[in-house]
Amino acid sequence: MSAHSLSDLRAVNSFAGLPAAFHTRLAPQPLNNPRLLRANADAARLIGLDPAVLDTPEFLSVFSGARPLPGGDTLAAVYSGHQFGVWAGQLGDGRAHLLGEVEGPEGPWELQLKGSGMTPYSRMGDGRAVLRSSVREYLASEAMHGLGVPTTRALALVVSDDPVMRETVETAAIVTRMSPSFVRFGSFEHWSSRRQPDQLRILADYVIDRYYPECREAQDDAASILNLLRAVTRRTARLMADWQAVGFCHGVMNTDNMSILGLTLDYGPYGFMDGFRLGHVCNHSDTEGRYSWNRQPSVALWNLYRLGGSLHALVPDVDGLRAVLDEYEPVFTRAFHERMAAKLGLAAWGPDDEPLLDDMLKLMDANQADFTLAWRRLADAVSGQRSVFEDLFIDRPAAAAWLDRLLARHAQDGRPEPEVAEAMNGVNPLYVLRNHLAEEAIRAAKAGDASEIDTLLKLLRNPYVEQPGHERYAGLPPDWAGSIEVSCSS
Ligand code: AMP
Ligand code: MG
Repeated sequence: MSAHSLSDLRAVNSFAGLPAAFHTRLAPQPLNNPRLLRANADAARLIGLDPAVLDTPEFLSVFSGARPLPGGDTLAAVYSGHQFGVWAGQLGDGRAHLLGEVEGPEGPWELQLKGSGMTPYSRMGDGRAVLRSSVREYLASEAMHGLGVPTTRALALVVSDDPVMRETVETAAIVTRMSPSFVRFGSFEHWSSRRQPDQLRILADYVIDRYYPECREAQDDAASILNLLRAVTRRTARLMADWQAVGFCHGVMNTDNMSILGLTLDYGPYGFMDGFRLGHVCNHSDTEGRYSWNRQPSVALWNLYRLGGSLHALVPDVDGLRAVLDEYEPVFTRAFHERMAAKLGLAAWGPDDEPLLDDMLKLMDANQADFTLAWRRLADAVSGQRSVFEDLFIDRPAAAAWLDRLLARHAQDGRPEPEVAEAMNGVNPLYVLRNHLAEEAIRAAKAGDASEIDTLLKLLRNPYVEQPGHERYAGLPPDWAGSIEVSCSS
């Protein structure tokens, strides 16, 4: 049964039921003359909404901020956080409004507007998001989902002519995001920094009861919270393995951008790598390289330590907290090795495979080989077309020598070549959301043409399957791609 109007969704807002200090109820500031640039039928199905509703005036009205979601309870949430390693104090939804939540066929989803105007947490900001960054968030959420990486989703993208001042004058847009929850590590840090353990307890109970019921230990609150930290630690570790495996750099791994559900949250100056560099930094504002590709797993652990530190107010047992956080490293390593073994075409990760992987990454780094194509073309090399892989390296003899080692390793597995190549193509994507592809879609969208968004999404929803006629999207980036700068300005 799907809902034929937004009222049929029977939205509620459980987060609104938390004490008043957790949020501020307020209406969004609607966009003037809003137009629905795109809406996502896949996301609509997740909340049990008939995709026909996406084309109605009611839909545009709600997701441009003009009218509340029927049944919902619109609010902005407060949180705090560490930004670039430094305590930033209170932050919060400075330009986002939680409209409410909907029970979908597979579980609950919160619906949140981003770019919907000022809130008490806007600090120096204007409460807006520009078209450019909204298109990037819309595309990235769906691209990550297509890759099989846990992520928030995007329901709608509404544009307007309202001017927004950034480095230049741009136009305002609102993207509607969906997530089972938008609670962040920083939501917990907020209450511990204020020394309000009662509020912290309320938040922990809310998160456990709604999202981690399996963590609840009757009569033992500290044990329940340790279980919660363990579950978040494990999910975050696996998320980092996912990011590393697809060459994704988040760009702003501040604790306020870390989801308590272990999914990718807050797409700003992210990037999928073109030419591989171990220390690749995608965010132009990250001058120290804190959030470079190879540091992401250790930064996530640093962030988990901040979460664990916050929970200390409820769990006096420091050794217990530390023991849980110590599980991060082995869970990450196992998940990373599993993904890398699959990418290399190995039946399973073996004790001697570390040098093989390390040397591949070093070789790619030294040659700035294209991350996506280098992995993808390994399957061609297995099928006898070694040159397409070697073509990606300036030092061809080194690439050829490494390939010999890989093929010798495959011989130990003894699996039939076609089977290995097919399995590799199932884990090494052909299409990723490269910066220049997003940029082309943004340029077209600015001119009112959303067709490039559609084309990209068609490919990115099925990134492992070659789609004829779309060679351009699977090729090396053009020279101008190197000059694209993405920064915190959004
Ligand atoms: P970010 O690192 O982009 O996720 O943002 C950090 C904090 O700044 C969050 O509290 C955001 O809500 C807030 N913020 C970012 N941009 C704006 C803006 N244009 N207006 C108001 N708040 C903003
Ligand atoms: Mg954020």
